[in-house]
Order: sequence, then C-alpha cells, then structure tokens
Amino acid sequence: MKKITIAIDGFSSTGKSTLAKQLAKELEYIYVDTGAMYRAVTLYAMENGMVTEKGIDKEALIAALDDIELKFVFNPNVGFAEMYLNGKNVEKQIRSLEVSRNVSPISEVREVRSKLVALQQEMGKEKGIVMDGRDIGTVVFPDAELKVFMTASPEKRAVRRYKELLDRGEDVNYEDILENVQKRDYIDSHREVSPLTKAKDAIEFDNSDLGLVQQFERIYEHALRIINN
Ligand code: C5P
Repeated sequence: MKKITIAIDGFSSTGKSTLAKQLAKELEYIYVDTGAMYRAVTLYAMENGMVTEKGIDKEALIAALDDIELKFVFNPNVGFAEMYLNGKNVEKQIRSLEVSRNVSPISEVREVRSKLVALQQEMGKEKGIVMDGRDIGTVVFPDAELKVFMTASPEKRAVRRYKELLDRGEDVNYEDILENVQKRDYIDSHREVSPLTKAKDAIEFDNSDLGLVQQFERIYEHALRIINN
C-alpha cells in the first residue's frame, strides 16, 4: 500500500494529538508530536538557567543547541512514543503549565526551529508518518499528501487543557489556562519565523462542536481515499 505524509497543524489544545495518534494507530504509521520537541528544548533552557524573569538568554541557548539530544522512545504500555531529553524521560515535565508558559518565546528562536525542523524532516523521509504541530504543512512537509488545519474556540480549548492538567494532578485554575492559550495563540501566529498559518491546500476543521469520533472518521476516510488513489 502507498505510504503518505499526514501533516496536522493548528492552535494549542484543538485535539491535534488525539487525532494524529488515532490516525497513526489505524494506518500503522509513525506519530510525531513536534510540540513535545519544542517543549523539551524549553525544559532544557529552564533547567539550565536560560529562562529568567528578564526573558530568554537566546545566545546561551543557541550556543547549547548541540548539547540537546532529543529522542522519541516507544512505550508499549501507553501505545505511543515518549519524549527523552538527553537520555531522560521528560514526558511528564514537558506538559506542565510552567513549560507551557515559556515554550512560545523559545519556539520563536530561528536556530531552535532550524534544528527541530531538520530532525523532523529526517524522521519523515520514508513517509508513513503523521506529524502534528504549527508549521508541518507549511514548512516541514510542504508536499504532504494530506494536510489538516484544526481550530476551536479558545474557551473550549482552555476547558480541555484544564481537565487534562487536573487529571494529571496539577494545581491549576481555569483563568490561568485560558490566558496561556490566548497568549500562545498570539505569539504562535504573529512570530517572524514560520508563524502558524493554514496551508493553502489544508482542510480546515473547527472541532468546537464536532465530536472526536466524527472528526476522526471524516479525516480517516479522506486519508484512505488518497492512499488508495
Ligand atoms: O502542540 P503543543 O501545544 O504541545 O506545542 C507547544 C508550543 O510549541 C506551541 O505553543 C508553539 O509555540 C510551539 N510549536 C511550534 N511549532 C511546532 C510545534 C509546536 O512552534 N511545529
């Protein structure tokens, strides 16, 4: 069967990763969460004193980029690959609100993006991949056979994120999450390098009211049509 590349982009907490994981499982494709990579670089910067109240020490971060090793390791117990930063499983830490607060400014750094985009292109060179992020259909794989752009209202997304963090035992409040979602939307779509935009040939999905099952079925059928064509 022909293998394709599936690029899923959109704002934070629009259900990109849920959809991408399901598609990858069904098609037996590799799933790559590029947000996890930006989050891991952010965690590294935080742990190494490069994020202070004054902002990010961009120069120090750029100088340290070669010391940051990122790897996805499949965990059969959860059914997907987890993020490892310099040999350590950081899957839990990278999802914290603290990392969410710092990740967008880190993702603006051109050199960070060049490093991560090159790694992502390497992972996808054999196709048979579902990748989610902000610039997958526009920059990482502009020739992807299927591109999906997901949106949902900030309030709906903040509720989802709030529930996720509560489930993980984090002490959070809804207002903080909504503020973080809106701030990240703004920075992600206004940054100079690879801003979040819908690729011209992407299918747009507003899933504020669409159930996850319905959404998956529509996109899965679409993918099969392309694969079997
Ligand atoms: O997808 P997730 O919400 O985990 O992404 C975290 C952050 O990483 C985003 O808010 C964005 O700033 C950055 N990101 C990016 N490009 C990607 C994926 C994520 O800039 N391809």
